[in-house]
Amino acid sequence: MISRAEVDKLLSVCAGGPTVLSLYLWVPLDPAALRGLPARAGELFALAARDGPGTPGVIGVQAEDRRAVRGLLAAHARDWLGHTVAIFACGQLGLAETITLPCHLQERAVLATRPHVRPLLLAIQRCPAYRAVVVDRRHAWLFHACGEHIESTALPPAPGLRSHGFSGWYGLQAYRVNERIIQLARQHYHDTAALLERAARAAGPEPLIVGGHESSIAQFLAVLPAGLRDDFAGSFVADPHTLTPAKVRDLAGRVIEEWLDQRDQHLVAEILQEPPGGRTAAGLSACLAAASQHAIQLLLVPAGGLIPGYACQRCGALSSTGDSCPHGAQALLAVPDLIEELAVTTLGDGGQVQMLHDAPGGICARLRYPLAPT
Ligand SMILES: [Zn+2]
Repeated sequence: MISRAEVDKLLSVCAGGPTVLSLYLWVPLDPAALRGLPARAGELFALAARDGPGTPGVIGVQAEDRRAVRGLLAAHARDWLGHTVAIFACGQLGLAETITLPCHLQERAVLATRPHVRPLLLAIQRCPAYRAVVVDRRHAWLFHACGEHIESTALPPAPGLRSHGFSGWYGLQAYRVNERIIQLARQHYHDTAALLERAARAAGPEPLIVGGHESSIAQFLAVLPAGLRDDFAGSFVADPHTLTPAKVRDLAGRVIEEWLDQRDQHLVAEILQEPPGGRTAAGLSACLAAASQHAIQLLLVPAGGLIPGYACQRCGALSSTGDSCPHGAQALLAVPDLIEELAVTTLGDGGQVQMLHDAPGGICARLRYPLAPT
């Protein structure tokens, strides 16, 4: 799994011009769909072409970098099924790096003077390690997902009643058999929960997801100990006997997304509740001003989209209009994404960046101190 240290290492790469290609591409789970990948990369390359101050005419992805990407896809795409792959390429710098990411991220290609890392930060934030348990009356499968790896353990089946002869029973006998089955199932759910609790105690708290038939989920949740209930992030309904680790990862991943969205909404509500003008900044320009004063403690930005703008090559001032400092047009460099610039500046200043799928307040920030008037 990608770490902050790897992001920092990528951020130390710097080219003289906007020649560093960052490509984020979703590799489908179905191997038959791999044939379409080079064409998809080509579409993204076309969107990355741009011009503007500080660039020598219209810039596009260099032929050697296109070739490098095609070569990497031909050689490795089968290893990346069901993942987003990040490819960083710059022939001039001898850069050709790939990182596989466990979650489905917005596809994009970006040309800049350094690697575009926003989706990596998003992956770190949106793809935490988690546990999943899939249960039915007699079986339980435990999963632990960390980055792109998922480990699974099938627990030995719980004892059950032999099924032959049930059909001939009726009345009180049938009732007793049924009661016994329920009792055994309850014991099995208890045992499974106890096992999970031991694992959670050993490794520390991680979000927990429960999968199975609706009735099994409800019965399992009813016996969940208090400590695990705090970790419970959500559930998914599926037939346990048809699940593979890859399917569990897919279904549980969606539950995790929803759970994180809810946490983000709480965070946004908290910041938006604070009185305006003090230690908060709302909107792109206010946040750009705050970043230039190194005042951002926590930056909230949307996960998707790019906002092109300008950076002054002399003082570093960021703006969407190119007139935020006295150094004039000669010093300007067109940058493909001001949100990336804001995020990197904030991290460089020791602040935190939180990416939101749904950012009702747009870009906003909690500040270390109120801004000095400009
Ligand atoms: Zn300047």
